[in-house]
Amino acid sequence: MSMVGAMPDLTANPVRGRFAPSPTGALHLGNLRTALLAWLFARTQYGRFVLRIEDIDRPRVRAGAAQQMLDDLHWLGLDWDEGPDCGGPYAPYTQSERLAIYRHALHQLRAVNLVYPCYCSRAEVANTASAPQQGASDGPHYAGTCRDLTEAQRREHEARGRRPALRFRVEEERVVSFNDLVQGVTTQHVQQVAGDFIVCRSDGIFAYQFAVVVDDALMHINQVVRGNDLLTSTARQVLLYEALGFHTPTFAHVPLLLDEQGKRLSKRAQSTGLAPLRDRGITPEQLVGELAASCALVNKGERLSANTLVETYRRRALPLQKTRFPLH
Ligand code: GLU
Repeated sequence: MSMVGAMPDLTANPVRGRFAPSPTGALHLGNLRTALLAWLFARTQYGRFVLRIEDIDRPRVRAGAAQQMLDDLHWLGLDWDEGPDCGGPYAPYTQSERLAIYRHALHQLRAVNLVYPCYCSRAEVANTASAPQQGASDGPHYAGTCRDLTEAQRREHEARGRRPALRFRVEEERVVSFNDLVQGVTTQHVQQVAGDFIVCRSDGIFAYQFAVVVDDALMHINQVVRGNDLLTSTARQVLLYEALGFHTPTFAHVPLLLDEQGKRLSKRAQSTGLAPLRDRGITPEQLVGELAASCALVNKGERLSANTLVETYRRRALPLQKTRFPLH
């Protein structure tokens, strides 16, 4: 046997991870911790890292926020091989520049009758919801009101000037199961939890669930590390991967950083971004140390660069998913 043949092939299926923030405000410490973890998962495995700007929901985008995000992530010591600022083989890396790609993917689903027009308003969906919210992260459960409309009924809605959203048809008894690297085996009966879900809104904006799957698949992302607020979205996304004929990536949903009251940080609640900390003179090493200590990766009070954190973990050969994240 030749020596070359006996060596592990590090290029066989290299890890491709990503961070995909929405530029609706400044990245708060929770977002930064998730970014650090996603980067760490990829880099400790000698993987590539992709940065994608998820600005598909244009009305919610804040001018200048995307550039600020890139600056903050760089300041923290993170780097990426592909992204809006440096390009890459699967460019563009900004969702608003990928609309033709989403249209094409939507066409594929329409061609096999996996999406249908839904004329319900938000209020109507909320009124007919058979289960209140039940963990679906975007909107109430949908009861399937428009699932089996006749052509005549559709024409009637159109004649009244209603513009439809497009919903993905979820099989009645479909249970999705995946082995999350952090949360373990996760199972969801999608029809019970979410129902048929929106892939394109009535204002023509592609839904997060849809755009994220198309992007991750076409960018060959094979390891999705993100906040566990998105855990309940994943089963729906798995259905889209399957319907579009894509490989499903590995998922790792990491705990969210909570504030002192134990509540989620949110961009909307103006949870502080980096600016005030930088103004106070905090260094990237201090912040990386604090973020890493907050999820028990290092001892409290340690100061270290993001690169040193990667090297430490590589040396210990400790897979990150075996780390015991605190339970919040
Ligand atoms: N763009 C989403 C957000 O900022 C994250 C999407 C994802 O990681 O799947 O919340």
